[in-house]
Amino acid sequence: ERHALDVFKDVTPKRADGTVIEVAANIGSLEEIEAAQAAGAMGVGLFRTELLFMRHMHLPSEDMQAETYGALAKAFAPYPVIVRTLDIGGDKPVAGIEFPEEENPFLGWRGIRMCLDRPDIFKPQLKALLRAAVHGNVKVMLPMVSDLSEVRRAKALIDECAGELTRDGVPFGHFQLGVMIETPAAVLIAPMLAKEVSFFSIGTNDLTQYVMAADRLNPTVSALNDVANPAVMAAIEMTAKAGVEAGIMVGMCGEAAARPDLIPEFLRMGLTELSMSPASISRAKKRIVELGKA
Ligand code: PEP
Ligand code: MG
Repeated sequence: ERHALDVFKDVTPKRADGTVIEVAANIGSLEEIEAAQAAGAMGVGLFRTELLFMRHMHLPSEDMQAETYGALAKAFAPYPVIVRTLDIGGDKPVAGIEFPEEENPFLGWRGIRMCLDRPDIFKPQLKALLRAAVHGNVKVMLPMVSDLSEVRRAKALIDECAGELTRDGVPFGHFQLGVMIETPAAVLIAPMLAKEVSFFSIGTNDLTQYVMAADRLNPTVSALNDVANPAVMAAIEMTAKAGVEAGIMVGMCGEAAARPDLIPEFLRMGLTELSMSPASISRAKKRIVELGKA
C-alpha cells in the first residue's frame, strides 16, 4: 500500500471547486520535521509545544523557544506552521510549574487557563513566537478556550509582548492568531470567537471527550468516545458553519482529520485544512483527490 500512496505525497489536493485543501502535520519537535516533509506535509497544523517544556529539568528560555519556533517556520516556509501555546495540565508534570492537586484535571487548570494565570510562563512563549514570525509563516493557536475573555486577554498579552520587544529593540514579526475548538463552550460561542481570531482548528480528541462526557483515556467508556457520534459531528458542523460564515479558515488537528470515512463530511462542512500525524498524510491526500474528481 505504501508504494501506491507515494504518488500522492507531492500532490496539492483540491476540492471539487478548486479550493486547495491543506494537509499538514501534527508534530512535537524539530526532529520530526524531516519525516513530515518526506510524507508531503503542506506545513504544520499543530506543533505541540509541551515536549519543549517537559524535556528539561527547567522551563525553556525565551531565546531557546525563539530558536525552536524560528527553525520550524524556516523549514516549512512559505507553508504555515501553527504553533499551539502551552497545553499542559495536572495530568502532565513539568519541572518549574507547580500544579494543584485536582480531582478532575481534564476539567481543571490546563491550557490557556494556566497560561493566563502565569504570565511569567506565557509571555516568554508569546515573545518567542513574535520573534520567530520573522523567519516564516507563523500562526499561533490557543488551546482549551472556553470563554471569549480568554482570547481577549491573550490578545492583550500579545500586544504587551510586542510593546516590550519594540522597547528593547528586538526584531519581531506578526502572526495570525487562532483558537482550538475543543470544548463544547467554544462550539456554542463559535460565532463570537470567529470575530476575534483568524482561524479555528478543531481538536477532535478533546472535543469528543467533552461533548460525550467520556474520558479519552478510559477504556470503559471508549464506545462513547467516538468522533463519528452524531453529537460530535453536529458540534463540528456548527463550528465549521460559524467559521465559514465569518470568512475565517477552519481546520482540524485531532486524530479524526485523518479518517478516510469522515474526510468527505469535513470537506462538505467547509474545512480547508486537515492536520494529522505524518504517516497518514499521503492516504488523506489520496482521499481528497478522489473526492475532487467525483
Ligand atoms: C485535540 O484535543 O484534538 C488535540 C489535537 O490536542 P491534544 O490531543 O494534544 O489534546
Ligand atoms: Mg486537545
